[in-house]
Amino acid sequence: MSRPLLSFSFTRLAQGVATAFFVLFALHAPALAAPKVVTSIRPVQALVYAVMGETGLPDVLLEPGVSPHTFALKPSQAQMLQSADLIFWIGPALETALEDPLKSLGANANVVRLIDAPGLNLLHYETDAPEDADGHDHGPVDPHVWLSPNNAIAMIDKIEAELSRLTPGNAEIYAKNAKVAKNRLKLLVKKMDEVLSHTRSIPYMVQHDGFGYIARDFGMNEVGHLQTMPGREPGAKHITQIREAIANQGVVCLFTEPQFTPALAQRLQEETGIRLGELDALGGALEMSPTLHVRIIQQLVLSMDQCLYAKPVDTPPKQ
Ligand SMILES: [Zn+2]
Repeated sequence: MSRPLLSFSFTRLAQGVATAFFVLFALHAPALAAPKVVTSIRPVQALVYAVMGETGLPDVLLEPGVSPHTFALKPSQAQMLQSADLIFWIGPALETALEDPLKSLGANANVVRLIDAPGLNLLHYETDAPEDADGHDHGPVDPHVWLSPNNAIAMIDKIEAELSRLTPGNAEIYAKNAKVAKNRLKLLVKKMDEVLSHTRSIPYMVQHDGFGYIARDFGMNEVGHLQTMPGREPGAKHITQIREAIANQGVVCLFTEPQFTPALAQRLQEETGIRLGELDALGGALEMSPTLHVRIIQQLVLSMDQCLYAKPVDTPPKQ
């Protein structure tokens, strides 16, 4: 009886060793041959990772604590661009400081502007300029496109196409992953629509004008923003207008962002009693995984809902 048992366990051991070698090889082999994919900001990294999945994690240029509107390129980041085969960014309307470096440093790579992905439904900022002949107000484009689940779906299709062009051998994996990512987004929209059913009409303000896509796609009631330019504190006149809007429109919440100083928001809270919440469009506090992008949107919506949800005032029990 002991012999078959011994030979059985020996076979199991041999299989285990073989599997371990296979796993080691499988983990290392593609890393040697894999093309270098570089992304600009954490949400773009997350969207590309959702499609790349088991084939690898793309590199990212910017730390999530840094605002993409106001950063300056470091030598280590220039090096990343230089050695890249494929670079994904949103476009010059967001990562403005990348525009010129990409022309020279990204010359050897295929550079993909996701804001140009087919099927995006873009928002434009309002301007004081007169309307065009066609009656539209074509202000500058709102570049925070990843915050729209519908736009993110179009971006995933573009990412899948570009990755498959670069490494056709992985096309099937990319197609499978892209499908999963798009389904997750559609499911999230359904769930969050339900969550927001009690809070979506309640007025709120944000720190910089970066959440218009969330407001549009989820039908929420954003009534203004503090910063007239991203990263810059507004002037006295604008602050007066904000104070009036808070009072006259019954604004319940003001959302700050980890990329900017909250000083003005805190002052307004002291003056008006407005509730403060925090929104992180870059998902800096969330762990990187192929589902990160979906979790960024989920966290934003839940933070908004939590701040806007008016808790009934506790009444002391009657004696
Ligand atoms: Zn922004």
